[in-house]
Amino acid sequence: MSLFPAHLTDRYQRFKFRHFGPNIERYSELAAYGQQPETMIISCCDSRVDPETIFSAMPGELFVVRNVANLVPPFETTGTYHGVSAALEFAALNLRVKDIVVMGHSSCGGIRACVEKTAARQSEAQFISNWMSLLDDSRARVEQRLPEANINETCSAMEWEAIRTSLKNLRTFPCIQILEGKGRLSLHGTHFDIASGTLTVLNQATDAFVTI
Ligand SMILES: [Zn+2]
Repeated sequence: MSLFPAHLTDRYQRFKFRHFGPNIERYSELAAYGQQPETMIISCCDSRVDPETIFSAMPGELFVVRNVANLVPPFETTGTYHGVSAALEFAALNLRVKDIVVMGHSSCGGIRACVEKTAARQSEAQFISNWMSLLDDSRARVEQRLPEANINETCSAMEWEAIRTSLKNLRTFPCIQILEGKGRLSLHGTHFDIASGTLTVLNQATDAFVTI
């Protein structure tokens, strides 16, 4: 049996002492009464882009789904396993979150693999290439719009395009459509720049990203 990594044990003990101890009443309330987060975040698995850190969140405040390149697949009921769809359904219908935020980021490895079309080679399997095929239409649009762009410019454009695609796919879910139509749910697109710490928000009326 492999040993649990010592550095994780150390970090857990630090958490228990520095964070859990001072907030034990909050944890007790969450355990007794359950979670009531008002915000769902859909972000990338990338270790540099942690939603709880970026939004200074305490336990119970954010309902987070993370996957490669912060993608939402379109609504469909075929197939068996739909992790993002299950989380969306739970957030919208059970938790009744008020806001769903799709957060992309700079230097996204999933986006770069999609642009370079190296996803299949990198994963030595079909999972990432299949997942990133959700952006095939987006890539075609960007390549058509920016035929002279270099790889970095194309990746950057694709990061924004992936956010728009996820927002569009979110609106294919009937429960999301209904709640948004009733004004009980708002959808948002954001982009986090790792080097500068800048958060940019999509103005969906003008389709422009605005720094906040
Ligand atoms: Zn990423």
